[in-house]
Amino acid sequence: MIQRDDHGGIAVLTLSNPPVNALGGALRAALDAALAEALADGSVRGVVLAAAGKLFVGGADITEFGEPPRSPILPDILARIDAAAKPVVAAVNGAALGGGLELALACHARIAAPGAKLGLPEIKLGLIPGAGGTQRLPRMIGPEAAFAMALTGEPVSAEKAAALGFVDAVEAGDLVDAARSHALSLADSGNLPRARDRDDRLTPETRDAFEARAAEALARDPGATNVAALVRAVRGAFDLPFEAACEAERAEFQALIDDPRSRALRHAFFAEREAARVPGLTKDTPRRTIRQAAVIGAGTMGGGIAMCFANAGIPVTVIETEQGNLDRGLERVRGLYAGSAKRGSITEAERDARIGRISGAVGLAHAAQADIVIEAAFEEMGVKRAIFTELDRVAGPGAILATNTSYLDVNAIAAVTGRPQDVLGMHFFSPANVMRLVEVVRADKTAPEVLATALDLARRLNKLPVAVGVCFGFVGNRILEKRSRAAERLLLEGALPHEIDAAVNAFGFRMGPFAMSDLAGLDIGWRSRKDFGGRAPVADSLAEMGRFGQKTGRGFYLYPEGARAGTRDPEVEALIERVSAEHGIARRPFAPDEIVARLMYPMVNEGARILEEGIAARPGDIDTIWINGYNWPSWRGGPMHWADAVGLDRIAADLTRFAAETGDASQEPAPLLARLAAEGGRFGAMGARA
Ligand code: NAD
Repeated sequence: MIQRDDHGGIAVLTLSNPPVNALGGALRAALDAALAEALADGSVRGVVLAAAGKLFVGGADITEFGEPPRSPILPDILARIDAAAKPVVAAVNGAALGGGLELALACHARIAAPGAKLGLPEIKLGLIPGAGGTQRLPRMIGPEAAFAMALTGEPVSAEKAAALGFVDAVEAGDLVDAARSHALSLADSGNLPRARDRDDRLTPETRDAFEARAAEALARDPGATNVAALVRAVRGAFDLPFEAACEAERAEFQALIDDPRSRALRHAFFAEREAARVPGLTKDTPRRTIRQAAVIGAGTMGGGIAMCFANAGIPVTVIETEQGNLDRGLERVRGLYAGSAKRGSITEAERDARIGRISGAVGLAHAAQADIVIEAAFEEMGVKRAIFTELDRVAGPGAILATNTSYLDVNAIAAVTGRPQDVLGMHFFSPANVMRLVEVVRADKTAPEVLATALDLARRLNKLPVAVGVCFGFVGNRILEKRSRAAERLLLEGALPHEIDAAVNAFGFRMGPFAMSDLAGLDIGWRSRKDFGGRAPVADSLAEMGRFGQKTGRGFYLYPEGARAGTRDPEVEALIERVSAEHGIARRPFAPDEIVARLMYPMVNEGARILEEGIAARPGDIDTIWINGYNWPSWRGGPMHWADAVGLDRIAADLTRFAAETGDASQEPAPLLARLAAEGGRFGAMGARA
């Protein structure tokens, strides 16, 4: 794992632990031994730490989290470097992240390749740096800047790192050679700069600046255990001697390993990665080439989807039925790009280039050249079938035909074509140019290479694709529908919209279900219930009164003079009470945790059904969809992870009770949930469907 090459008095230790040189137990042991040996060797004047492969060190070995620490731990190795009487220089190629950056920071100098990324991403895993990152970085670049880096978890480039002061040189030529020369000159000078010795940045002024940032961060996310731990760890730099502060940091790190919120964030992180592994697809599954795209419909979704292509450098034709709609749609897209350029998030040249990649046309014949067509026309089966019948005639052989439908049966859409193997769903979320999630809907006859191509394409568009199967509403909207129904039922049983929204906000969603309906428009659910069946007596009555939500100034709440936040409306509350009475339901108050159970347990139950049916490959896919498409708080890990934390036996027992109380048998625990509950099992222990 470590190769040593001595040359001119410098021992170069090259780390090799593919794919990312993670600092697992075996590599740590090898590195520690090699360092000890080189430093003790009379012929060695200095050491260079370098890496084989694409990057220096990607971080800790995450599979070791939760296991008892194996000696030597990273701080032991860093202590050895601290104690060295000879220079140790890091040659950072590619990236030094997490423990990898902490290793580099303990060295006496860092020489980095151009564009290398350096960062402390632990916060994204619900953790904080645990090997001196919160002590050495503040001493190098100041506590405020160091705290900001550890708080976002975003890496900076080698160039930025050099400007900040924690990279000594950016070397475009031979990196190891440059590090070797640097080590020699340090050996000649007899000067071994150590981050731990630099206390000049720890002043009352820098403390004030850090504390101000820390207060902001804590106020933004008061419950964030990892942010609070990070603040305490950095504060240790001011309050404690170096060694003690490092020990305190390590203790914070260890405590977070078992913290439920930190666990949930780690689950969310790994579930997202795992979602990329789709059963039945491999690296060797053939892919089709996508050079050009067409989008059908220049409405809300079509415009946003076209922007995704343009942003990724793929030319796209937007197709409408008539010129007026096309002009309006393209005008809206240009307006969005103009806004981005004005805010400075893209340059004017980039704005023009992106707009230049989008062309408009009237008539489906213009889809003939596209390698992929994404249909985003009205949500009506008749419209979709007509479009796909026509696309089947005009699209080139091998073109992928995708629909952005929210609910409709993709098999039925595919069936009107003579090439169902080329048809699938690509369900983007609104606003499509912003939201990362895409449900990629695999229909019965979708060819593996078509699915693989669509998933790759989504990633090329900077999206997070999750493969799902065909059913009403797929994974996300199918579960959402359960929540909406449960929310409507709660209204009839005694809770008021603001009480339900408050409970859901307190749970961690940015918006409650009724504020959400008002924003999206009550007409949408109302029309869809008309088309697909189902009644929501309160929501339907409001829609029938023309109360469509924010756009009409009235929905579940009032929005006087275009206000964004709604206020309670006595008229709505009277209506709700009337509907309860009509249904013969005796109203009673609901506590927030009861509201959460009534809303969320049916969602978990539907998730179990989705797993039974194989619509999602694994519980983590459902979690990834709800976190990224529906604002489920990531620190609760998604509905299935959360259910495990609550306890499946408790959820199953409550669902049985809800079914009895409401007379709604669909609330009974799904067989999978009932089985897991009986066995004391967890969704998190399930493997992926083969
Ligand atoms: P929209 O009404 O804003 O836009 C639809 C556009 O399609 C209109 O401009 C219309 O002129 C055009 N159109 C209709 N028939 C056409 C045809 N035959 N050929 C070419 N253009 C045609 O609707 P939207 O909100 O963009 O939704 C589009 C699709 O995306 C629907 O299937 C919807 O369910 C789905 N979807 C919507 C959202 C959302 O939040 N709005 C989210 C995900 C998916």
